[in-house]
Amino acid sequence: MRKDISAMDEETLAVRLQEIGFACTRCGECCRAGPGDNNLVMVSPVEIQQISTHYDLRQEEIAEPYPEHVELPGGIVVTLGWVLQRTCGDCRFYREGACQVYAARPWICRTYPFMLDGNELLTSPCRGIGEVITKEDALVLARDLLLRRDAEQEEEEKIRQALSRSLPGGEGRLIVDSEGVKMV
Ligand code: SF4
Repeated sequence: MRKDISAMDEETLAVRLQEIGFACTRCGECCRAGPGDNNLVMVSPVEIQQISTHYDLRQEEIAEPYPEHVELPGGIVVTLGWVLQRTCGDCRFYREGACQVYAARPWICRTYPFMLDGNELLTSPCRGIGEVITKEDALVLARDLLLRRDAEQEEEEKIRQALSRSLPGGEGRLIVDSEGVKMV
């Protein structure tokens, strides 16, 4: 479902969110295995660091390379960005019906089932759609959606800049993220 937000600001967005309605039913479906890769949670280096700091975890315990990649001539494999690790298709942090990294969960988790594509509000399927959301909660969600959009745009721009520089040659796997090019 798409809704245009012409005058994009927190208040306007909050009104739209109240019109649609949303309350988390704690079903956990967005954290567990679903069809295909629809529960992939992309995370930036900043978000990985936040989880790492908050929960004293190493990066290798939090994220893995995005599953899709391109293979360049010469045998080098390039992946753009990271996703939260999954166990049997479920987010590895979803245990006993709860998020184990809730206080530092990524933007995608904070704002699901919504996202902004420019000024368009997109809504993903979710059992909680249509439930009552208070003005206060709608404002918090609106603010998070706008912050997420800004963070994603910044991440994309930094990845574009990293890709505009020449990639190292040789065989191996490269991850390109907002911090640059990393060989893993
Ligand atoms: S980090 Fe938490 S909220 Fe996000 S998918 Fe994993 S368990 Fe769910």
